[in-house]
Amino acid sequence: MDDSEAMRDEEAPDEWQPVEGMRIISAEAQVEGGLASFPDYREHEQVLYCEDEASGLKSYLSIHSTELGPCLGGCRMFPYASDREALTDALRLSMAMSYKHAVADTAHGGGKAVIIGDPRTDKTPELLRAFGRFVNVLGGAYITAEDSGTSVEDMRIIGETTSYIAGLPLEDGGSGDPSPVTAYGVFCAIQASIAHTRGNPYNPKAGLPDITVALQGLGHVGWYVAQHLHAAGARLIVCDIDPERVARAQEEFGAEAVGVDEIYDVEADVFAPCALGGVLNSDTVARLRTPIVAGAANNQLADEGVPRMLQVMGILYAPDYVANGGGVINISYEGEGYSLEKALRHTERIGKTLIEIFHAAEREGMTTAAVADRMAGERLAPHQ
Ligand code: NAD
Repeated sequence: MDDSEAMRDEEAPDEWQPVEGMRIISAEAQVEGGLASFPDYREHEQVLYCEDEASGLKSYLSIHSTELGPCLGGCRMFPYASDREALTDALRLSMAMSYKHAVADTAHGGGKAVIIGDPRTDKTPELLRAFGRFVNVLGGAYITAEDSGTSVEDMRIIGETTSYIAGLPLEDGGSGDPSPVTAYGVFCAIQASIAHTRGNPYNPKAGLPDITVALQGLGHVGWYVAQHLHAAGARLIVCDIDPERVARAQEEFGAEAVGVDEIYDVEADVFAPCALGGVLNSDTVARLRTPIVAGAANNQLADEGVPRMLQVMGILYAPDYVANGGGVINISYEGEGYSLEKALRHTERIGKTLIEIFHAAEREGMTTAAVADRMAGERLAPHQ
């Protein structure tokens, strides 16, 4: 039995006292009604709560599954309105990480930590070091990384008290900014979607001279997606709330610019959402004039009915967590001596995975989102 197995909830004590001054307890014993009272609870392997009086740390750490390997997932710091809200986020995000790792075949499981507090006012080196000690308690079953509210600099401080950390800069022996690899994965997802709709074999190196992509968001990922598409010969129609980025894309890629609300009405081959979540809802999908949706944004679907609507409209949807898996693939190469080349070759497999999902969805009359979830669930069994 390895360390992580030894620490699953059923065997874990209700109260942990591994670090002086810190109170670490099973969340099961800490929340009213227990974990089963949370709609997002799916028999997560282990969920802990930590309180450190000296630094003011209050944190939940949720391990959804170590079936495929140690959990790798970010640490989010946010001024949650209640413990219930914080724990809900940890449960939901850790399960989403399991699914993302499972379809990306990274040999990692899904875990996530949340720190309750305002990152602008409550974050101190003492609090971050205390968080590192909390991570240490799990003996490597959870590896932390940056997320919203935490930065690479914070990771360096957390790294003073735990070695179970990833996502450090290249100069510190880490895997650096994941955005370029995420973007390459999105480009592969677009290549696979186009190949599938045209009945061609998937080839990430294929040129795209007759393809137009409507790209929403020119940030860390979107900019690199635009670079790949431009290099492959695709025409770009772009939008961003930042006019400077739009102007640069016009100059560097000869992109056509549209307003942020007009992007849904653009006639193109692909709509690539690379800005923010929740953009696919019944209103925006009804407006789409592209046969493919493939982009980087997390949680693109505003509600559960959207995948079926896309299917009925004949729009091929590349499930978001499959298309944007390049980021977790990149970071998963950190432990064994980081190699960008290896991360990129692994990332190209996103296209193959999508082709498998597209075929299964057609064969079985399912949505691509449902097939992706099933694929992840099967790989994670028996913890589903
Ligand atoms: P980012 O903040 O660097 O970029 C987002 C861009 O979208 C910015 O340029 C912003 O100005 C623009 N934007 C915001 N609102 C917009 C709107 N309404 N219309 C058009 N543009 C808008 O973020 P990022 O790191 O590029 O990530 C983009 C998305 O991809 C997010 O949903 C993120 O969760 C997801 N993602 C990122 C990574 C990664 O490696 N960075 C990995 C997986 C998923």
